[in-house]
Amino acid sequence: MTEEKLSFQAEVSKLLHIVTHSLYSNKEIFLRELISNASDACDKLRYESQTDSSLSEGDSDFRITLKVDKDAKTLTLADNGIGMNHDDLINNLGTIAKSGTEAFIKAAEASGKADVNLIGQFGVGFYSSFMVAEKVEVTTRKAGEDTAWLWTSAGEGEYTINEATRDSHGTTITLYMREDQGEYLEDMRLRNIVTTYSDHIDIPIVLLGEKEENLNSASAIWTRQSKDISEEQYKEFYHHVAHAFDDPWLTMHNHVEGVIEYTNLLFIPGTRPFDLFTPERKNHLKLYVNRIFITDDCDEVIPQYLRFVRGVVDSGDLPLNVSREMLQHNPVLAKIKTGLTKKVLGELKKKAKKDAEGYATFWENFGAVMKEGIYEDFAHQKECLALARFKSSNGDAWTSLEDYVSRMKEGQDEIFYISGENLDALKRSPQLEGFKAKGVEVLFMTDPIDEFWIPNVAQFEEKKFQSITKGGADLSKIKKDGEDKDSADKEDSADKDGVDRLCAAFKAVLGDDVQEVRSTDRLTDSAVCLVASETAMDRNLQRMLKQHGQSVPDDAPILEINPSHSLVKKLVDLSADGTSQTIDDAAHLLLDQARIIEGETVPDMTAFAKRMTSAMEKGLV
Ligand code: ADP
Ligand code: MG
Repeated sequence: MTEEKLSFQAEVSKLLHIVTHSLYSNKEIFLRELISNASDACDKLRYESQTDSSLSEGDSDFRITLKVDKDAKTLTLADNGIGMNHDDLINNLGTIAKSGTEAFIKAAEASGKADVNLIGQFGVGFYSSFMVAEKVEVTTRKAGEDTAWLWTSAGEGEYTINEATRDSHGTTITLYMREDQGEYLEDMRLRNIVTTYSDHIDIPIVLLGEKEENLNSASAIWTRQSKDISEEQYKEFYHHVAHAFDDPWLTMHNHVEGVIEYTNLLFIPGTRPFDLFTPERKNHLKLYVNRIFITDDCDEVIPQYLRFVRGVVDSGDLPLNVSREMLQHNPVLAKIKTGLTKKVLGELKKKAKKDAEGYATFWENFGAVMKEGIYEDFAHQKECLALARFKSSNGDAWTSLEDYVSRMKEGQDEIFYISGENLDALKRSPQLEGFKAKGVEVLFMTDPIDEFWIPNVAQFEEKKFQSITKGGADLSKIKKDGEDKDSADKEDSADKDGVDRLCAAFKAVLGDDVQEVRSTDRLTDSAVCLVASETAMDRNLQRMLKQHGQSVPDDAPILEINPSHSLVKKLVDLSADGTSQTIDDAAHLLLDQARIIEGETVPDMTAFAKRMTSAMEKGLV
């Protein structure tokens, strides 16, 4: 076969350009990336060999070697892992499938330069070798196949693939170091980098020289006692296992013995990973059986609402030859899942108590995902509710439901909330006015999932959840601070008969566009607002479903009017003389205005504009 010349996918070219031209510091991490790949490759082969032992035959003592040739100025890294065939090379080293990398490119392009922070956030994998090397050769042979391949590139748009020879399966990467990168040809430097970044790798990393030297401790970190592991080591392992570059916010390392035995080393990331809201809702825990990697693609190991947890679980109670399919309904795994869930929720509870500020950051990152648990995990619904935090009309801080309940007013027996996507818009909702005036706290529900768990849970500590954009939210029972109930009734409202008359006139004008027109005490500054009837679907949910192209029942809203608003009072006076064009226009204009405030569109813009013009004109004369 003759040489094949291929072009990198456009994204790879961009990435390579950034890597070679803009990354100046922290170049040493290229070695961490290459070792991490080599270790993954060995894990993969170890796993595949469980079902087909011939795959690693003759070469199953997994190890990674480093070798320096000072004359040729090369650093060579070899592993005896799974290797790659021709197509693997094209797919893995010519394209990018990772969302993180895409985000890295965008961020780097936006800032005009890629700095250490960026690389810290994203990591650039195999391509980071071009930070230090002017040419990279990859000789690789896939386990179970006879042909080996040589991949070569100078990291500039193109690469070549040739047939090659390699004694056995695995991958050898030779870096032709750039002139100014001689430091990576020094034993001392290499030793230092490996202990800093890769000590936790559980297969030996060996420096080949006059004699062989082991550079890492090569024990699976989770099998060691936590007292013997430094925070730095935990952090490096987290980076490796989670493919992450931030600091873990929480580390949970423990060994469980009892009916079943397992060890978990779990991390909660300090920042929000990119793939949190993909439809697959995949978790990323790695499952091991007696230190042998089984899979990182098992839905049964932790609930989906805890999918932000990273790390490993290792149990000797699962059969080694367990297939991924067999994991579906495995009772041992089910117990592990329950155990891990309890552990994570328990640790979160402790954190919330001890470090409210840190917990708030956690909640900002993962709260929307955690709330799925309230809806999905009936067995832990109480715990999930207790862990939930909300923004409220009480101020900018996050509040728990427990704290909300402790602040409830005399006569208040419901938990009031308002839902919508945009927190700032919610804060300005007219429906809030009456609650604010009475000092009644309202929770802001800004996550789409809120629309689902709230009806499902219905109450907390026997207090019902009540949307303030629904008809049933009743403020009249609640006393304003320092006032007794009767005197709190609006002194300067329009008279009740007059208001009823105006409501009837409005309803006659608006017809089926509204279900009802009625007076309300939930407004102070605004003249009108829209609410849904108590039995209808919440208006925010209606909007959400419509946005997703789903059909929703056509429930007309209720138009509520504020009897103490001066405009309403004037209209009440006017309506004493029967209906008129002014009443007609006002009814339409006020309904349209209420729609606009809700973020809805006005159905007849032209009519709206005409009425508005005429109203303004009248105001001017
Ligand atoms: P990542 O490791 O995050 O997937 P990389 O850029 O580091 O991204 O590597 C890209 C892919 O190339 C890997 O997913 C793997 O499939 C393949 N690869 C890289 N190095 C090796 C290796 N030493 N042995 C086998 N496959 C490898
Ligand atoms: Mg990698």
